[in-house]
Amino acid sequence: MSVPNKEFSVAIVGGGLVGALNAVYFAARGWNVTVFELREDIRTLKQAGGRSINLALSKRGISALEGADAGAGLFETLIPMTGRMIHIGEKQSSQNYGYFGEHDLKAINSVDRKLVNEHLLNKLQKMPNVTIKFLHELVSIDYEKTVLNFKMSDGTECKFQADLIIGADGSYSRVRRELMRVTRMNFSQEYIEHGYVELNMPPNEKGEYQMDPGHLHIWPRQTFMMIGLPNTDKSFTMTLFMPWKNFEAIKTPQDLLAFFEDQFADSLPLIGRELLVKDYFKNPKGSLVSIKCKPYHYKSSCLIIGDAAHAMVPFYGQGMNCGFEDCLVLDEILTKHIGKPGTASSTKPSAEAMGKALEEYSATRNADAEAMSDLAMYNYVEMRSSVTKLSYKLKKSFEGL
Ligand code: FAD
Repeated sequence: MSVPNKEFSVAIVGGGLVGALNAVYFAARGWNVTVFELREDIRTLKQAGGRSINLALSKRGISALEGADAGAGLFETLIPMTGRMIHIGEKQSSQNYGYFGEHDLKAINSVDRKLVNEHLLNKLQKMPNVTIKFLHELVSIDYEKTVLNFKMSDGTECKFQADLIIGADGSYSRVRRELMRVTRMNFSQEYIEHGYVELNMPPNEKGEYQMDPGHLHIWPRQTFMMIGLPNTDKSFTMTLFMPWKNFEAIKTPQDLLAFFEDQFADSLPLIGRELLVKDYFKNPKGSLVSIKCKPYHYKSSCLIIGDAAHAMVPFYGQGMNCGFEDCLVLDEILTKHIGKPGTASSTKPSAEAMGKALEEYSATRNADAEAMSDLAMYNYVEMRSSVTKLSYKLKKSFEGL
């Protein structure tokens, strides 16, 4: 068993978006941080598997990145989207995100998921008190001894002892499952009846965007929808969300093309028939789950954050943003209970102070995360249906200004 010899040791399970950012915050406290990640190093992969290719990064996530001084080098790649572009038939109508008309340039930002993860891993790699162990799958935890058991890709097992365990291992969190054995955790999960598939709209022959990159594009169709977010290579990632029964009804390329001609005719020449058929049938179809649980912690030894604590449907674009904010909020609560980074009490926190901090985080963060989750559920109706009525309502309300 490897036992770190530094002052205070933390094991972070999951080196995805949230685990990596949290590791940056903890390393800044001078703690000895080890990140355990199930997958291989995504920096060595051409394309990261799994979920969405790009994401909307909002002020909430930006503040958390700034709080860890982790924005430089990433913020330069953001593509601001100052409004949503609604596609109905051949018509497009722009709805600004700012309240005060077209000069209010409030924006959410399209960003590459792999790039965000790589950026944070690169930052961690430069921090002397951080170790990243890839191809380590957490199997179980002994909470009394704070020992984690891992299985490696070659089938061998290893143990690791840490003072604090952070579960940032996503929606199907093993840390959460283990936590349920030692806490009276309330837990609920809900799969919605919709799934999603990602498609690509390439740049045109001049290498330019085929739609306005300053907007998040939406094709609302009441019971389903397609959205498009711009990428820095001038392509758009298109995501089609619809009930599983609609996916099942599309069995052949002819079915698919007829469906697009009927529902998304304006996008068809921009995506290209051949590429559409290739991507649709090749790309994985993902399910969407919303998870709520409470508490998030166990004594002074374990805490879950990010999707492990509050996976939400993606329609509010806040899953990652909320997970990033978890790291910022946790840091603020740690500062309150154990002191600012650099102080003796923070470098080697007492179990009592840590226990109080985790308890406060768990109690206060839960209500905010669940509110976000409920808003995400509501916003699906907004995006696929209500937006078609909103431009009229907004126009009316601005007439008075
Ligand atoms: P994850 O990203 O799931 O990372 C968990 C990590 O833990 C992974 O690297 C995994 O390999 C590792 N792991 C899992 N199990 C183990 C184990 N047993 N041992 C070791 N490691 C393990 N959010 C936004 O803010 N904006 C958006 O626009 C947005 N769009 C989305 C679009 C779609 C289609 C989807 C599905 C989600 C979207 N989200 C968005 C949500 C966002 O993807 C998640 O909230 C975010 O990825 C959560 O990060 P995380 O680090 O908590 O979990």
